[in-house]
Amino acid sequence: MDTLPNKSLPWSYSKLSCWNACHKQYFYRYIAGIRGDTSPAAQRGIELHSLCEEFVNGKCEESVFLRNLVKARVAIMGSTIVPFIIAIRQTAEEDPGSVMTELKVKVNSQYLPYGDPTSTCHWHYGTVIYDVLIEDSDGAEIIDYKTGKIYDEPHYIQAALYANTYYRMSHPNVMPLVTFVYLDLGVTKSYEFTYEDMQDAQAYIHDSLKEINAEQEFNETEDKTKCRWCSYRTMCRGMPR
Ligand code: SF4
Repeated sequence: MDTLPNKSLPWSYSKLSCWNACHKQYFYRYIAGIRGDTSPAAQRGIELHSLCEEFVNGKCEESVFLRNLVKARVAIMGSTIVPFIIAIRQTAEEDPGSVMTELKVKVNSQYLPYGDPTSTCHWHYGTVIYDVLIEDSDGAEIIDYKTGKIYDEPHYIQAALYANTYYRMSHPNVMPLVTFVYLDLGVTKSYEFTYEDMQDAQAYIHDSLKEINAEQEFNETEDKTKCRWCSYRTMCRGMPR
C-alpha cells in the first residue's frame, strides 16, 4: 500500500463510482479539484437526506416531516419507507446510543480509525459515510437514503463497500445488514453479505486503486449518455447547463 500515490487515496464509494463512470470526470473532480455544478436532482437529494436526518434526530415533528416529503414530490400514501423511517426514530428515542446519523468514518489500510496513534499505518485509506448506523446486541444495520431509481450493480457495490468497511472495523467482526431506502419508489432493499463477499469487496477496492494509479490519460467516456447529467458537461463537452 505504501507504493500508492495520492491520486487514488483515500477511496470512497463516490470516488470509485466516478472512476467507473468516466476517467475524465475523475480527473476534473479528484485530480484537478474542480467543483462541478450541482444539478437540481442532486440538490433535491441533499435536501431529502437532511430532512430524514433531522426527523430521525427528533429535530422536526412527524407532520412537518411528512409535509416536506410531499413538497419534495415523495409519494407517501401506501409507502413502506415512511413507517420504516418512523421506526428508526422510535429506536433512537428509546435507545439514543444505538442510532448514529451522518456518520463519517475514515480508516487506514488496517481498517483502524485514520490517525490512530497505536497503528503502524498512517495512510488515510478510505472514507465511508453512513446515513444511519444502528447497533445493538443483535448486530448492526447500515441505512442509506436514495432518490431516483434502483441501479442494481452500483448499489450492490456500494452496499458491499459499506459492509466491508464496517465488518473489518468491528472487533470481533460483525457483518452488518445494509438497507437502502428508495424514497421516490417507496421501497427498501436489504443486502446480506458473506465473508467471501467481503473478500471480493476488498479485491474490488484494491484493483480499482491499482487501475487509477496506472492511468495516465484520463480520457472522456465513450458512452455519451453519461454526459447528460455530468457536472462538467459544459467545460468538457460544451453542453448547455
Ligand atoms: S461530460 Fe462526459 S466525458 Fe466529460 S467528464 Fe462528464 S461524463 Fe466524462
